Amino acid sequence: MNTPPSPPPGASLVPYGQGHARGLDATELGVHGMEMDSLVRLGLPTVPGLTIAVSHAADLTDATVARGAVDLLSALAGRHVGQADRPMLLRLVASAPVPAAGLPPMVAGLGLSLDTAPALCAAIGRAEMLYDTWAATVRIIAEGALDVPADDLDDLVLDNPAPARRLHALLETCKRVGTRPYPDDPAEQVALAATALLARWRSPRGRRARAAQSLPADTGIALHLQALLIGPWARSGHGTATSRDPETGAFSPSGAFHRGVRRSEAPGVPGEPLATMPAGADLLREALATLEHHFRAVAQVGFELRDGELALLSAAPLEHPSPQAAMRLAVDLTRAGTLDQAAAVRSVRPEQVQALLHPQLRLRGGEPLLVHGLAASPGAASGRISLSSLRALDLAADGVPTVLVMTETTPADVPGLLAAEAVVTTGGGLASHAAVVARGAGKPAVCGASALRVDPAAGLVTVDGRELREGDMLSVDGRSGDVYVGAVEIRPASPSAELDVLLGWADDHRRLGVRANADTAGDAATAVRLGAEGIGLCRTEHQFLGERLPLVRRVILAADADDERRALAALADAQREDFRDLLRAIGDRPVTVRLLDAPMHEFLPHDGDYEDARQAARAAALHEANPMLGVRGVRLALLHEGLYPAQVDALFSAWIDVVAEGIRPALEVMVPLVSVPRELALVAGQVADVAGQVHRRTGVAVPYRVGTMVETPRAALLADQLAAHAEFLSFGTNDLTQLTYGFSRDDVESRLLARYIDRGLLAASPFAELDPDGVGALLAIAVRRARATRPDIKIGVCGEHGGDPASIATLEPLGLDYVSCSPQRVPVARLAAAQATQATQATQATRSSGERTS
Ligand code: PEP
Ligand code: MG
Repeated sequence: MNTPPSPPPGASLVPYGQGHARGLDATELGVHGMEMDSLVRLGLPTVPGLTIAVSHAADLTDATVARGAVDLLSALAGRHVGQADRPMLLRLVASAPVPAAGLPPMVAGLGLSLDTAPALCAAIGRAEMLYDTWAATVRIIAEGALDVPADDLDDLVLDNPAPARRLHALLETCKRVGTRPYPDDPAEQVALAATALLARWRSPRGRRARAAQSLPADTGIALHLQALLIGPWARSGHGTATSRDPETGAFSPSGAFHRGVRRSEAPGVPGEPLATMPAGADLLREALATLEHHFRAVAQVGFELRDGELALLSAAPLEHPSPQAAMRLAVDLTRAGTLDQAAAVRSVRPEQVQALLHPQLRLRGGEPLLVHGLAASPGAASGRISLSSLRALDLAADGVPTVLVMTETTPADVPGLLAAEAVVTTGGGLASHAAVVARGAGKPAVCGASALRVDPAAGLVTVDGRELREGDMLSVDGRSGDVYVGAVEIRPASPSAELDVLLGWADDHRRLGVRANADTAGDAATAVRLGAEGIGLCRTEHQFLGERLPLVRRVILAADADDERRALAALADAQREDFRDLLRAIGDRPVTVRLLDAPMHEFLPHDGDYEDARQAARAAALHEANPMLGVRGVRLALLHEGLYPAQVDALFSAWIDVVAEGIRPALEVMVPLVSVPRELALVAGQVADVAGQVHRRTGVAVPYRVGTMVETPRAALLADQLAAHAEFLSFGTNDLTQLTYGFSRDDVESRLLARYIDRGLLAASPFAELDPDGVGALLAIAVRRARATRPDIKIGVCGEHGGDPASIATLEPLGLDYVSCSPQRVPVARLAAAQATQATQATQATRSSGERTS
C-alpha cells in the first residue's frame, strides 16, 4: 500500500505571497491561493490574507488552529478584530486546486458579536448592510456546523425580511435548535465556518458537482482567511473590472462598483460605473495594466475598496475577450515588447478575426429563434422575407432590405441572392450553390435549415406549426446558423488598424501563400484589399449567372455546328469583357482561371423556362439522374470541343488588352474535374494551339501556365501522370470530399451529417473541416507523386477548406504552396496559415530534438 506523501513543512498557514517561496503550488494553495501569491509577487495591493493549505484545511475546524490563523492574520493586517478605531472583520473563502464550479460559498461576516456590532455599524454608517452580511454568515454556519435543519432556516429567513430581526432570529434558533449557540469568539466562528465549508464540499451535492466536472471525488479544497478591513460606506465597496473596453478593444478599465461588502452570490443590481468609485481608480488602472503584461491576456480582477484603499481579491485572464479586445491587446503588448510578433499572431483566434470582419447580431437574450441551420457564410443581417429571387430583386429595388428564403438556389437565382441582405435555404450544405455564392459575395447565409418549410405559392414559411408570411422580418446569423423572427440590432463589422498590423505580422510568419476564389472584378478588388496574393480560382461558369445564363445554355443546347459556333462567339465576347475587368482588378498578381465547369442541372432550362419545344426536348434529352457525376468540367469540353478554346482565346485577348495598359497578371489556365490524364493532355494541347493562333494574330506570345484541378480520387492517385502535363495542381476539396466519401455535397449535410456528428461517427462535417485521414491521405499521395514527376510543381487548394483554420492546419504540413478561399475569408486564412506554420515548425523542432536525444 502506498503511504500518502507528507505535506511540506510550514504548509499549513501560508500568508498570501509566500506560497511560491515555500515551494507550494495549486495542489496545496488552491486556485485562489496561487492567484493571490502572484499578485503579491507582482507588487500589487491585495487584501491581507493567508491560505490554509489543502492537506491542512480540516485543521482549521479546531479552534486552537483557528486562533493561530486569526492571530497571524491580525499581524499581517496590522489591526485586530474588535479594534474600535481601525475595525476589521474576517472572511473565509474556499478554492480547489483547479478552477471548479460548486465551491462552498464565502463566509464574509466573521468576527461579529452583539457587543462589537454597534461600533461597527457606526463606523460603516449603514447598519442594515452589516446585519445582512452577518445574518448570511450565521445562516451558513447554523446549517453546516451547528446542525440546524435547512428547512427551519429557510422559513426563518422568509419570515424575517428585515436584516437585524433576521440576525436575532438566527442567533436565537442556533441557541434553541443547534448543537451549541453561535459563539462570540472570532476564532471559534472561524473554526465553525471551516466546518461548514468542508461539510458543503463533502456533501452529496458537492460530490455530484465534482463528478459532473470529471474532478476526482477526493479533490480537496484550500481555505483562505482574509482580513475584511472596515471603512465608511461612502468610501467603501467592491467590484469587478476588466482591462479592455469590449466594444473598442482599447485599454480602458470597465466594470461595476458596488457599495457594501462582497458576498458569494452575484449582486442583484448592475452596480455603478467604475468612474463613480470614490477612490482607487488610478491604482486599479495600473494593476490591470501590470496584469495584462503578466497574463499576456485581457485581465479581469475582483477588488475591494475599504476607506478609500484599493485591494485586489482575485485576478485572472479573461476567458472570452471580445475580438476587438483580443486584437488590440496583441498589438499593444507587442509594441510594448511583452510579446514578440510570432506570439502575438498565436494569441488571436482566427474566429476572432472573422468576427471583426463581419457584422454580428447584438443578441440580448430572449430573441425568438425560428430555426437553426448550417452556418454557411458569416455575417448577420435583418430583412423582410422573399420567397423568390424575383421578389428579392423587387424589394431591393424599392430599398427594402430582404432575406431570400428558398429550398435551394440555382445560378438563375444569383441576382436575387446578391440583391438580398442574406439567404436562408432549407436544403443544401456548406458546399452548396447558395453557400458558395453567398461566401463569395460576403453575404450571411444559413443553409440546410431542414425544419423550415417554404411554400412560395402560398407565401408562407412554417416551422413546427409556427407560420411566417412573405414580407415578415427575419434576422440571420450566418456565424451560428441561427435565424430569428423579427429585427435584431446589428453590430457593424469593425476591422481596425490593429487588425491590419497583426495580419501584416502573420504574413511574415506564414509559409503558405493565400489567394482568393474570385469570379468578378468586384470580388478580386475585395480580395486584394483583404490581402490576397492572387486569384487561386476564378470559376468562369459564375460569370454566366442570372440573365447571362442563356450564353452557356445556347452552347449546351446548340442545334448544329453553326449554332454552336455562334453561341461560342457570343460567350467569348462576354467573357473577354469580364476577364479584362478581372485582370485589371488583380494587377500583376497570378490569376488561375478555371475553364467552364457547368453541372447540367444548374444550366439547363427548367419547366416553364423553355424558349421553344425544340429546346424543351433537347433539355429533356440531356437530363441526368446524377448531375454532379455527369457531364461536368472537362467532360463538357469533350462534347463541345470549341468551348475551352473559345474561353482561352477570350482570356489571352483580354490579357493583351490589359498589358497595353501596363498591367501584367500571371495567367494560369486550369482544367476542372479531370480523372483521365489524357483529358488534361488534350486540353493542354488546345490551349497551346490557341496561344499559337493568338500569337499569329496579334504578334504577342502570351505567357501562361496550364494546370489542373485535382478533385476526383483518380486524379489524386494519378497525380504523377497529371504532373507530366500540368505546371500546377489545385485540389478541389469540395468535390474530392464528395467523391471520396460518396457524400453528395448538396444533400447530406443538414440531415445526415448532423446524425453522424450526434452519434460521434464524425467530429465535424468533412465539407467544412478537411478530413485528415481519408481526403488528407489522398492529398499527401498526390503531392508526393506529383513532385516525383515535377519537383517544382506548384500545388494549392481551392476548395472551401482553403479558408477554414482547422483545415489549414492539416494542409500546412503537407507542403502545399498556397490555399485559396473566398475573399472574405482571406484575412482568416492569413492568420490561420501563420499559426499553422508555427505549429509545424514547433512539431519539427520537437521531433528533431527527440531524435538527437534518442
Ligand atoms: C471544388 O470542388 O473543391 C472546387 C473548388 O470546385 P467547385 O466548388 O466549383 O466544384
Ligand atoms: Mg469542383
